Amino acid sequence: MGRLFLISLEGKIYSCKHCQAHLALSHDIVSKSFHCRHGKAYLFDKIVNVTAGNKEERMMLTGLHTVSDIFCVGCGSNIGWKYVSAHEKNQKYKEGKFVLERFKLAGPDGNRYWITHDTHLGGSDDDDS
Ligand SMILES: [Zn+2]
Repeated sequence: MGRLFLISLEGKIYSCKHCQAHLALSHDIVSKSFHCRHGKAYLFDKIVNVTAGNKEERMMLTGLHTVSDIFCVGCGSNIGWKYVSAHEKNQKYKEGKFVLERFKLAGPDGNRYWITHDTHLGGSDDDDS
């Protein structure tokens, strides 16, 4: 897939927990109230250093969505997914945006997340309540 070329960000950075590739900035967070199988997930307006997998239809709490899994270009980890399109009108704001699973990120506030996070067991893939 060619030469590995990582984009560097400046500011409050969320990076890949495994390889420290920069992924997103905290001011690009649209919502912190998403959930995935593993706990919290954040919705970002834009992210860098990722590649998207194949599109697929996925049924979530908020309806049917076309999504692509996204992968860190540094280490190939699956770190979240992209909303390609939403079938429900009131979910259209998510189109073109990205969800990153919080536990796969190193955040600007260090590792405090590991101590304070509350995992929602039996949670859904997607809940923007
Ligand atoms: Zn990585």
